[in-house]
Amino acid sequence: MNNYFRPNVDAMASYVPGEQPPRGTQVIKLNSNENPYPPSPAALAVLQNIDGEWLRRYPEPFGREFREAASRVLGVPSDWIIVGNGSDELLNVVIRACAAPGRKVVYPMPTYVLYSTLCQAQDTDVTEVYYNNEFEFPLADLIAANGDVTFIASPNSPSGHVVSINELRKLASSLSGVLVIDEAYTDFAQEDALAVVKEYENAIAIRTLSKGYSLAGLRLGFGVANPGLLQGLFKVKDSYNIDAIACAVGAAAITDQTYKNACVAKIKASRTQLASNLKQLNFRVWDSQTNFLLVQPPDGNAQYLYQQLKEQQILVRYFPQPGLENKLRITVGTDEQNQVLINTLTQVLLNCSIPKS
Ligand SMILES: *Cc1c(COP(=O)(O)O)cnc(C)c1O
Repeated sequence: MNNYFRPNVDAMASYVPGEQPPRGTQVIKLNSNENPYPPSPAALAVLQNIDGEWLRRYPEPFGREFREAASRVLGVPSDWIIVGNGSDELLNVVIRACAAPGRKVVYPMPTYVLYSTLCQAQDTDVTEVYYNNEFEFPLADLIAANGDVTFIASPNSPSGHVVSINELRKLASSLSGVLVIDEAYTDFAQEDALAVVKEYENAIAIRTLSKGYSLAGLRLGFGVANPGLLQGLFKVKDSYNIDAIACAVGAAAITDQTYKNACVAKIKASRTQLASNLKQLNFRVWDSQTNFLLVQPPDGNAQYLYQQLKEQQILVRYFPQPGLENKLRITVGTDEQNQVLINTLTQVLLNCSIPKS
């Protein structure tokens, strides 16, 4: 076939999402950081009552109902909120609005792989700054790189650690470009960065309903920033980027904080238990303020364990990337799922330690 693509698109690799097996497949799915609990009953009730008329008409282009609900929950005015078709769309909107060949995007590594994919598609310059093995925040290097866009996932994936508010403040005040604080996992963390967004006009926090609110299939995310920054982003988003159903269901879900907080509390308790069980199996486990754990198996043979677990219908995430080859990222499931994981790992590790003759 002829090559119809721009050279950067031709050269780039596709983003590789975690495996998403067909519905009904019997797997324990701990590879995409989905919430193991169902969405809020209030959100599901809205879904039951969707009127055909909502679908006949175009949706409200800015997701007003969701913005107003989020505004009440977060205590920021609704014109400080941009809604997206998942937070992934909003990351892309920032790239399309602010990055281009000759402009530079900066992010610490390892982090969310999609940043790199979006940059390659946009053909923008990129500076990747590496975390050390303890995930100390490379503040000085990030400031020195001074990107037109700087992405900071906090809490970060796949490490699970949070960047402190004060470091984010220093970054926002030192950069001449936009600071994107990707808060996909903020519901599981001790502190969030909304204060930074309120103080610095170049900062935007991007959040999602996929993780804390159990709505990954709905595709709904939002950003919080001052209206001046949002104005440029609104120009490049798709005109009807959030569908009528997502908007209404999402509004009900974010309003039901009681339910979300209860699920998050269960997941945090399970996270503590899972971390302790993995440590007993001699895994190194990094501290996490998310719904997943970054772990290093005792013999460092992460890819082998990933394969063995997969054969037993347990999916975890393996990233064949510098610094991650010997690690796995494991989503915190229900206590039952976590126990099956631990039992299976115990068995697999026992089998590997039996000398083969
Ligand atoms: C899951 C995740 C997202 C994507 O969230 P969606 O709203 O489902 O698109 C964004 N950033 C990070 C770091 C994530 O882990």
